[in-house]
Amino acid sequence: MPFKALGLDPHILQAIQEAGYTEPTPIQSAAIPVVIAGGDVIGIAQTGTGKTAAFTLPILTRLTAHPVPQGQRRRTRVLVLAPTRELVAQIEENVLAYARHLPLKIAKVYGGVGEKPQKDALRAGSDIVIACPGRLLDLMGQRCADFSQLEYLVLDEADRMLDMGFLPDIRRILNQLPKKRQTLMFSATLSKEIESLTHEFQHAPKIVQIGKRSNPAETVTQLVYEVPKHLKMALLAHLLEDEKMQMVLVFSRTKHGADKIAKKLEQGGVTCATLHANRSQNQRLRALDDFKSGKVRVLVATDIAARGIDVDGISHVVNFDFPHIVEDYVHRIGRTGRAQAIGDAISFVSPDETPDVRKLERFINRGLVRKKAEGFNYNMTVPFVPDDRPERRNQRPFQQQQRRPQGQGGPRQGGSPSGQGGGRSEGQRRDNRRPSSGQSAPRPQGQPQREAQSPSGARTLWNRLTGKK
Ligand code: AMP
Repeated sequence: MPFKALGLDPHILQAIQEAGYTEPTPIQSAAIPVVIAGGDVIGIAQTGTGKTAAFTLPILTRLTAHPVPQGQRRRTRVLVLAPTRELVAQIEENVLAYARHLPLKIAKVYGGVGEKPQKDALRAGSDIVIACPGRLLDLMGQRCADFSQLEYLVLDEADRMLDMGFLPDIRRILNQLPKKRQTLMFSATLSKEIESLTHEFQHAPKIVQIGKRSNPAETVTQLVYEVPKHLKMALLAHLLEDEKMQMVLVFSRTKHGADKIAKKLEQGGVTCATLHANRSQNQRLRALDDFKSGKVRVLVATDIAARGIDVDGISHVVNFDFPHIVEDYVHRIGRTGRAQAIGDAISFVSPDETPDVRKLERFINRGLVRKKAEGFNYNMTVPFVPDDRPERRNQRPFQQQQRRPQGQGGPRQGGSPSGQGGGRSEGQRRDNRRPSSGQSAPRPQGQPQREAQSPSGARTLWNRLTGKK
């Protein structure tokens, strides 16, 4: 079904044509008519399915069909709640693109940055507010927001908001909103908790479910490399010798581990940035911008990023540590293969992580392909191992680590209760169509050419890392 047949406003049709969309994704075909008809929706869709447009396009159409009478004060008509700052910024980016031919004001609200500009935007009156619950609640408490005329509420990544403990904040916000409104809820899974949230806040919602429950996008090739823990860094360096790995998102279970991986890669001359909760908001936005623009080839992130990143052309996602929580795996690999493009998700799995892989395979009801990395020396000895333990005061010097007997080399992984294990501890996502697995992905339009690391040049990466000539 073409976009034209969905009943969207002509200005919006023009904007999506300019965005380069040719046809709606399945979640869009299913959700848009329901929302335009005025019904509540529960959208069960994985990341990368086009769900942002699935709720934004019909809401914009409805706003345009019922404009505020001239001379009346501008009040907020749409509130979108999302779990992370990155996701809020991304939704805003999408809404701005879809609403570019409409006279609407949009405000975003999230913590970690100064309140004043957000307060000013709210007080000046914005048609659409996109917000993280915590900061919004603060600003509502300061009477900055006027939701008395609110018509549409969207809860995006509702499952994640619950995981992150936002339920009390959400309840407090929703209790202050008009009861007569259209409520749309999007979630990767339809859990019991989501169902009860639905009963609490929605009216006779229609469930729009695309694909199987919690199944990773089918366009993503998922591979498992079984590798001892102490060889993971060497394997990453080895894989990065392949220039097809041109835009790589690496997941570490801990912030400390992410920093260590990035540091090692940088030492080897690989352009790299990190994204995790210990980085300031500005550092995080810069890291994302540098990754998006091609200034850096690798972005090392914790699960914070799995929810927030929408970057064109990610060629590979590497799970340096295998996630404990199956939903985190789905969200991580949803960063590639977005909007029906093809991408590779690679998981490094050490023997102690095998139970987590089995758990995932049972959950998604299919086995992941095990692969041996071609040309990689699984018997090599390594002079260091990435240590993802939380920082210790009396860090053992590098030389001592070198003397550690092989086999016991890998320090414990990601077990810190306060770390990001399980992805719960942090406040906290176009078109990388690859014609075939043997070809490299074309760059998305507008992105500069990434610095090619020739196989011969890159062959020295591991040597550079280990200080060998
Ligand atoms: P989302 O699941 O909303 O995060 O969207 C994933 C990505 O798909 C975003 O970068 C969108 O720009 C892109 N996208 C959304 N709808 C379409 C479409 N109909 N055709 C092509 N790309 C799309």
